[in-house]
Amino acid sequence: MSRFLLPALYLLPLVAIGAEGFTDTPILPGTQWRVHDPARPQPPKAEAAKAMCQTTPAPAGATVLFDGKSVDAWEPAGGKKPQVWELKDGTMVARSNDLKSKQGFGSGHYHVEWRIPAGRVVKGQSGGNSGVFLMGKYEIQVMEGFANTTYADGSAGAVYGQTPPAFNACLPQGEWQSYDITFVAPTFNADGSVATKARVTVVHNGVTVQDGTEILGPTVWRKLPAYATHADKLPLHLQFHGDPIEFRNIWVREAAAGAK
Ligand code: MG
Repeated sequence: MSRFLLPALYLLPLVAIGAEGFTDTPILPGTQWRVHDPARPQPPKAEAAKAMCQTTPAPAGATVLFDGKSVDAWEPAGGKKPQVWELKDGTMVARSNDLKSKQGFGSGHYHVEWRIPAGRVVKGQSGGNSGVFLMGKYEIQVMEGFANTTYADGSAGAVYGQTPPAFNACLPQGEWQSYDITFVAPTFNADGSVATKARVTVVHNGVTVQDGTEILGPTVWRKLPAYATHADKLPLHLQFHGDPIEFRNIWVREAAAGAK
């Protein structure tokens, strides 16, 4: 065997299992990893608790944003031809543009159920991508991760571009999945600087994948996040990333005023 061929063969498995990503992005503060670093370890698989993925009724006092019957609580978030998402068989199907709630929210418990439709051709960030944008700024990634690999900080349950989930709790395409997100909104000083950063706990299909994770700033692609002062309550956004991701049973239970 050629001595030139041998090293190439050693490299093949690395190429085959390596995630897509970027190696020209900045280092995330407090870590050794670049934004969307393909070398950042993949979250280990954890068995999803399927009972937790069933429709969890909105508790008393929660605001129901989608109950399968009406999309009236939502409006388009920009787009060339702004459209509300399609209501189909009790689900909302992503199309055309991001969606935002008409009502604003801050700290609280957000419950969102989502499904990657069966039969999607998914590769990396393409084909099975959406997102839950808390306050329209802080994305918890929605991604096909059962049979698809992407950069760790862009996988399902990631604080996008910042912190990968502790586990990969993804179910296959065609199955409903749930996020229970406890979010603590950031606070700001009078001069506009951040006083306390946002924090988030994410339970994906019954598995805690973020546990009080500090959010470094609004989530962005290929850049370091930077806080900028904003209102105490802002609409919840759902991302349209070109894929017809389905949603159902969305509710928010706001934290008591003054809760941190
Ligand atoms: Mg996304």
